[in-house]
Amino acid sequence: MPYFAGSPIDAYCTKCQKDTDHVVTEADGLMVRSVRCHVCSIQEPFHSCKVRKRAAVKAEPKKTTKRTVTRKKKVDPAEQFRQAVFGRDRTEALTYSVKMNLATGDLIEHPRFGLGLVVELTAPQKVKVLFQDEERVLICNRS
Ligand SMILES: [Zn+2]
Repeated sequence: MPYFAGSPIDAYCTKCQKDTDHVVTEADGLMVRSVRCHVCSIQEPFHSCKVRKRAAVKAEPKKTTKRTVTRKKKVDPAEQFRQAVFGRDRTEALTYSVKMNLATGDLIEHPRFGLGLVVELTAPQKVKVLFQDEERVLICNRS
């Protein structure tokens, strides 16, 4: 079941050095990121109970959940786009036209799709461009 900030949870406290009652302070779906100990009030990254951990090893914890979450994050085009254009100067962007000569790494301003980054030349007159919402193949070098 998913966790939310404020959910009670059993966890191992590194300060108390034992399993204590905790409350979730930061969670991302099934992943608990940080917790606060009820006994000493310290906030720290989530550590599963020592006792329960030992029991869970036999049961082979579900790895699939974790993998799905990671994959979802990877394909988020907005995040990919943000990382790709991070540090780039938007004023450098060239206004897109089918006649322009594009190369990998060029920043373009498309009249319909907005800011885009050329990520791959797929054919002599085609480039793969990463936009904020998705990747598109555009025509270029056409005279
Ligand atoms: Zn504690």
